[in-house]
Amino acid sequence: MALKAPRGTADLYGRQAQAWNSIRQAAFDFFAGYGYQPIETPTFEQLDVFVRGIGEATDVVGKEMFLVNDKNGLDRIAAGEKPGAGEQLALRPEMTAGVCRAVVEHNLVPPDATTVKLVYAATMYRHERPQKGRMREFHQIGAECLGAAEPSADAEVIVMLMRFFKGWGIPQQSMRLLINSMGDDACRPAFRDKVRSYILEHADSLCEDCVRRADTNPLRAFDCKNAACQAVLVDAPQITDELCEDCKTHYAAVKALLDGAGLTYEEDPRLVRGLDYYTRTVFEVQVTSGLGSQNAIGGGGRYDKLIQEFGGKPTPGLGFAVGFERMLMALEAVGTADFAVAAPEVFVAAVDEDMRFEAFGLAQKLRDAGVPVELDHQRRSLKSQFKQADKSGALFVVVVGPAELAEGKVTLRTLDTREEQQMTLSELIVCLKAFYRQ
Ligand code: AMP
Repeated sequence: MALKAPRGTADLYGRQAQAWNSIRQAAFDFFAGYGYQPIETPTFEQLDVFVRGIGEATDVVGKEMFLVNDKNGLDRIAAGEKPGAGEQLALRPEMTAGVCRAVVEHNLVPPDATTVKLVYAATMYRHERPQKGRMREFHQIGAECLGAAEPSADAEVIVMLMRFFKGWGIPQQSMRLLINSMGDDACRPAFRDKVRSYILEHADSLCEDCVRRADTNPLRAFDCKNAACQAVLVDAPQITDELCEDCKTHYAAVKALLDGAGLTYEEDPRLVRGLDYYTRTVFEVQVTSGLGSQNAIGGGGRYDKLIQEFGGKPTPGLGFAVGFERMLMALEAVGTADFAVAAPEVFVAAVDEDMRFEAFGLAQKLRDAGVPVELDHQRRSLKSQFKQADKSGALFVVVVGPAELAEGKVTLRTLDTREEQQMTLSELIVCLKAFYRQ
């Protein structure tokens, strides 16, 4: 049987690979303007990083993990023992937990430090049922801001994200920015209890999942895709009515800053997002066309307790992640997904076999001078090299022939006009560089 990529994964090549490269690079450059520096963490972590960081009762950890055991772990399992913590690993379903683990491990935010801002672009793994915009391996670009408790940090992160999307040509009217506050340790427990009671009171009209989660993670009911459940939950308690004074003040300040920045947003008191670590501000960006039900292109929030959960000193934090695959679909829907794969515009052709050595050397000299160059590696005839150059989208062919070479010259042929001009190597470099400067 022919070998295939695993279900829910996709090879990125051609335009899509170019898109990933361009969007991730643009994110690094754009976020750098807000003080973000790149970070990379391992693709897999100790399972505990996700269990403690994201929460066992979440779908991401409870249902969707790709577990990995190293050799020692497998040996232990074979011997009927339990693998040790360092032997039980999982592919990352998201990046925040791993980043916070790294922040604590390397003490990246010491108590007197200014805010530390980190940006990443990486693959994530979730064992979900694949559908349009939902994959088992997907790419996220994200940012984490650590050490800042002020509402201005929340607003800055949201403004940066919206400007990033706008910079890629997604008009504001094609996006919905949803925001909410999830409260904190002072007010959320009481709210959770109220939601739990509400679910149990309405158990007959809710799906099994919602009822089952009543004790472990009642807020997840708000994310339930079942329309009947949503209808029942319309009258459920709302967090905005339950926020403590501090959370209320924080939320009001964030909104005032967003208003001041001219951002349109919708308050959605039922936006809870699937991960346990969020406190206070949460947000999600949805697009209004092209994505069907998986319409969230990015989301994030504040996680003021996460660093402590990993054994670090109390350090507030917040961040977001953008789903690359969905962002690309959104760009396609608005017609700004222009990711042509560019080939070098200069092709060095050898007139005959004897000239190949010279052509090879010349190509390298041109590249050293900063001119992108392609040449034939398939022993093609001169005519066929011209055809190949034309097909690749090249604009010029530099022809290396014995007669010209004897005079220290080559021929520069402009493909569309078929004009030819003989010149020395240094003239050629000046000529091509001048072209690239235009
Ligand atoms: P989350 O980490 O769940 O907050 O997701 C952040 C963003 O990642 C979402 O808004 C989506 O754009 C994207 N995303 C999440 N899960 C998937 C998935 N299974 N496949 C593709 N993109 C995803």
